[in-house]
Amino acid sequence: MSLSETKASFPFLDLKSVNERFKKQFYEAFESVLQSGKYILGPELEAFEKEYASYSETEFCVGVGNGLDALIISLKALGIGEGDEVIVPSNTYIATWMAVTHVGATPVPVEPRIDTYNINPDLIEQAITNKTKAIIPVHLYGQAAEMHRIMPIAEKHNLWVIEDNAQAQGATCGGKKTGGWGHINATSFYPGKNLGALGDGGAITTNSKVLARKAKLLRNYGSEQKYYNEVIGLNSRLDELQAAFLRIKLRHLDKDNQERQQIASYYSQNLNHKSDWVLPVTEKQCTHVYHLFVVRTQSREEAITQLSSRGISTMIHYPIPPHKQQAYKNFKINLPIAEKIHDEVFSLPIWSGINVSEFDVNQW
Ligand SMILES: *Cc1c(COP(=O)(O)O)cnc(C)c1O
Repeated sequence: MSLSETKASFPFLDLKSVNERFKKQFYEAFESVLQSGKYILGPELEAFEKEYASYSETEFCVGVGNGLDALIISLKALGIGEGDEVIVPSNTYIATWMAVTHVGATPVPVEPRIDTYNINPDLIEQAITNKTKAIIPVHLYGQAAEMHRIMPIAEKHNLWVIEDNAQAQGATCGGKKTGGWGHINATSFYPGKNLGALGDGGAITTNSKVLARKAKLLRNYGSEQKYYNEVIGLNSRLDELQAAFLRIKLRHLDKDNQERQQIASYYSQNLNHKSDWVLPVTEKQCTHVYHLFVVRTQSREEAITQLSSRGISTMIHYPIPPHKQQAYKNFKINLPIAEKIHDEVFSLPIWSGINVSEFDVNQW
């Protein structure tokens, strides 16, 4: 028998077990939504929006169809489009770039710090031109970007800030929640995110009444009053069922994030012997809610093969940086830090309920 046959297999993410914890409450929520006869823009969404705004320490929350739409609607609410430039991290999931492209603006990549993998505030100013309208910091892998340094740069140059908070619900910078720093901010409730729905979902958070109203119009055909359309909108609404499920999971988010932090510290403490593995580094002012536990090494293939033989599944976030994707083939630009990161990182399993003590991490 080969080693892989004798070992238990540990999946990268077991969403079934993550969600089974809430089975009884989900069934009750389903029953209640079913019986209500309201499935879109109803009381569950309204309640979730209040609760998620309060969680994010913002005045307003607008539920939308997914994270990409949350970014697109945020950009549109700010009036960003054709001819405008938007600063984005070179190292991010491609949604951040695509949102900018979708509204007709140009993404202008800024390289990350090699230790935190988040956008390097020292490099932002040199990327600003007279066309720049906004910065989209991404709280990548679950670690808050350095918002306390990014906001003053934006203020100095009169730029909007849109946080991409898809991976870091519950993280903080300088004690203040992510999704509450920027002028208007986007998040995703894709099932694998820290706050994941049972389907697609997303939200926008803001302290601006004007921007919240614009976002509400934009998610619903530009309409506030049925059959009266003020602007060209989208159809992108967080539905009642997902809102009801998310309300249940939101109450557990802080505990789930704490568990992720405990798993991360278990990995970090027990992986000291891997001298060629660079473990996650958290910036002093920021917290990390470990959407992903990302390791960097020049011998990535060996590492992945060795772990796989022990039954440990890994993934790469992400194998190809946005500027090297076919979709951005016109982007002829060198971004060596992003490229190095994409060549060297892999992610270890991390989720609520995973038992990492079974992994024999010391033996890796
Ligand atoms: C997941 C994700 C998104 C997009 O969210 P969807 O709901 O999948 O559209 C945007 N930005 C980042 C950084 C993400 O990880």
